[in-house]
Amino acid sequence: MDLENISSDIMDKVITEMNSYDYNSFSDEDIKEALNKDYLSVKNFQALLSPKAINYLEEMAQKAKLFRERYFGNSVYIFTPLYISNYCDNYCVYCGFNSHNKIKRARLNFEQIEQELKEIAKSGLQEILILTGESERYSNVEYIGEACKLAENILIM
Ligand code: SF4
Repeated sequence: MDLENISSDIMDKVITEMNSYDYNSFSDEDIKEALNKDYLSVKNFQALLSPKAINYLEEMAQKAKLFRERYFGNSVYIFTPLYISNYCDNYCVYCGFNSHNKIKRARLNFEQIEQELKEIAKSGLQEILILTGESERYSNVEYIGEACKLAENILIM
């Protein structure tokens, strides 16, 4: 595998925070403080995830609504996901496609991708999310690039 090693310390930071998270240590004041801020620290997020925060769900929902409307308005964005290959070399524990799972694997050829795209085009939807697992052997950059070209030709006509 020729994956780039980005030498990130993010995983260590997340694990350290997770191990030191004492969810019973947060008070009502901690939760109110988090609810009154526009930008939250890790501790603020932890307060909102603590058991005491169950009494503040309505306030949290109102605040989430306010921010959602501020940044996204009242719009709904619809797109169609198209999985063109589910082979993957990785093992992300949350993912059904991870390489340790014994599932049926498939990789669409270009004719099959075209057929799927034509069906999607009939629905009137033009936004598409093309997905694969991460596999240099089954879904390399050239394969994904060809799929994108097909999508561009079929959906934007
Ligand atoms: S498909 Fe993506 S999320 Fe799933 S195991 Fe592979 S790399 Fe991870």
